[in-house]
Amino acid sequence: PYEGPLADEILAKRKKFLNPALFLYYKKHVNIVEGKMQYLFDETGRRYLDAFAGIVTVSVGHCHPHVVDAVIRQSKLLQHTTTIYLHHAIADYAEALVKKMPGDLKVVYFVNSGSEANDMAMMMARLYSGSFDIVALRNAYHGMSPATMGLTAHNTWKYNVPQGFGVHHVLNPDPYRGPFGADGKKYAADLSNLIESSTPGRIAGFFAETIQGVGGAVELAPGYLSAAYDIVRKAGGVCVADEVQTGFGRTGSHFWGFETQGVIPDIVTLAKGIGNGLPMAAVVTTPEIASVMNQRLHFNTYGGNPVCSAAGHAVLEVLEKEQRQHHCAVVGDHLLKRLHALQEKHDIIGHVRGRGLMLGVELVSDRMTKTPAKAETLQLFETIKDLGVLVGKGGLHGNVFRIKPPMCFTLEDADFLVDVMDHAMSKL
Ligand code: PMP
Repeated sequence: PYEGPLADEILAKRKKFLNPALFLYYKKHVNIVEGKMQYLFDETGRRYLDAFAGIVTVSVGHCHPHVVDAVIRQSKLLQHTTTIYLHHAIADYAEALVKKMPGDLKVVYFVNSGSEANDMAMMMARLYSGSFDIVALRNAYHGMSPATMGLTAHNTWKYNVPQGFGVHHVLNPDPYRGPFGADGKKYAADLSNLIESSTPGRIAGFFAETIQGVGGAVELAPGYLSAAYDIVRKAGGVCVADEVQTGFGRTGSHFWGFETQGVIPDIVTLAKGIGNGLPMAAVVTTPEIASVMNQRLHFNTYGGNPVCSAAGHAVLEVLEKEQRQHHCAVVGDHLLKRLHALQEKHDIIGHVRGRGLMLGVELVSDRMTKTPAKAETLQLFETIKDLGVLVGKGGLHGNVFRIKPPMCFTLEDADFLVDVMDHAMSKL
């Protein structure tokens, strides 16, 4: 049994010594002390089914034994020296990662967080194109570093400091709330118009998540990315896919989110699930773009350290051996079916969306006006937790349940989650 400090004591220390802008998810705080695959355990030993994976960070399962073994083995041998010396782990892992990429995406830069990866992608796009302007989507989340805060398009995550120079936000191709429904091409016309009217006609690059994570699992309207990529490339820009949440087979149908829209980006950014919870991120690009970066040295102290590289490599091995992408497709399809049935039963569900194990359930107080049911979402969120399931919440209005469990989530887990949601909604 757990013998460490309890929730109240930890909370008092957090309040006294930690960043006061940290936020907690639940009114009745949860002190998580142990994780095992799709389960988390609190200080009393109570088990929770994890349907959010610590904001989509645990890909193959909490403390997956194969990843833990790889980390322990490498930690005992050598933890770190940096890339000024040779080490096989970073090279072996880069080779394995590149094998999963299509086209000419053959060069890897290792960094330590998603924000850092997107920072680097912004710089690459500007260096390579010789232009400055960058376009992102409204409702996007790309990080909280000063540069990526400018890309992010949610007021919650923006400080009133100079940020976002040269960044423009276009209409979000959101099939549920957008003005053009699911017609991706119509939204892309707004991108053309923005380039013509708000930039010198040439841009550095374009960023998008294929399914917006923090934005509430919003899957971009079909046809959007291919039309947008054409427009961006004609304006001299590079196309960046932020795969921080959508990568590694989570969408079930494809290994990378961008593949669901039939495009190949020029730069891909990876983080979160890449290391199953270890601080690790990467930027993958083409030799041509990398050659421009080569005009100076590039160094990152912790990027690709042997321990994180071993973890990343072990994640790829588990994904392959346990056929996680296929599993995400099977469990995701079942979940979608059950969630659609739940929508028929409860008027509060305005929209069910997503792919594989990257799903969203948007709650509205009126299906016609689509008024966000913020208070009800909060209330349900607590009830669902009290019943033993942890889900995520998000969206610009905080009225979307985000279902993004570790990829070992089973059909039975999916049924339990939906039954719990059903029960909580019936009691509302
Ligand atoms: N991109 C996406 C799509 C994300 O969801 C996040 C984190 N929520 C980031 C980038 C930033 O990652 P990090 O918090 O590791 O900087």
